[in-house]
Amino acid sequence: MGAESNLFSEEENAYDDELVEQLTSFFEKKYLKKARKSFSAGKPLLVDFADLDKYSTKLSDALINRPEDWFECSNGALEKIDFGVDGKRAVMAFNLPKHKILKIKDLICENLNKFVSFEGTIKKVYGVKPRIIYITFVCPACNAKKIVIQDEMFVKKPFMCECGNKRGFTQEMKKYRNTQNLKGQMTYKNNKIGIKKKDIDIELNGDLVNPLFEQNIGKEIYLTGILRDKSSENNKETTLRDLYLEANYIYLSGGDLKK
Ligand SMILES: [Zn+2]
Repeated sequence: MGAESNLFSEEENAYDDELVEQLTSFFEKKYLKKARKSFSAGKPLLVDFADLDKYSTKLSDALINRPEDWFECSNGALEKIDFGVDGKRAVMAFNLPKHKILKIKDLICENLNKFVSFEGTIKKVYGVKPRIIYITFVCPACNAKKIVIQDEMFVKKPFMCECGNKRGFTQEMKKYRNTQNLKGQMTYKNNKIGIKKKDIDIELNGDLVNPLFEQNIGKEIYLTGILRDKSSENNKETTLRDLYLEANYIYLSGGDLKK
């Protein structure tokens, strides 16, 4: 855990102590038993949005409008609480209000980086791919180690070591995570234009990845996630962007994902 949590706490997001405090109280007061049960079974904690909203609209607003901060602070809060069990502590949120279900008219920049939910069907499933999330490089001049987060299509190397060297870095360690893409389809009914359909790309990471999605094409899914802006894959930065959903929680109805 050590290296990874240090790594991510150094990211730009302002770590919000007040949000951590409030989330700690929320988890302790409302989710202590459930969290203990989930974590001891090696499962993520499922937070019902309705519970969060009832406890504090400040916390539910933060989830909708600043999901990255909310999840980072939730992880911080869950680290602070003694559940009496080891293992990783992931959190997922579901049951967003009806008006937070993604519609075609919501696919606009105002909703970028917001937490939304999606209801629709699985149209297409792509294969599982391991993705490098960070690489530890070693400087050949002074042996210092440098961690570089990999968030683009091509591998990023350190620009310069503290010692001044800019060349010959060797890769010491790579950290991987599984990733998988789906195409979801939402159906939109309108009295004037009839039924319209719209596809959206969905990205699954880590434990959400499941090769058996392939056997569930056409099935209905509900998911929550963050609406993201896709960086272009040919490494040419363009100003016109596509949106996709980075999933946090998935519920497949009438399907089967058991191995
Ligand atoms: Zn060096």
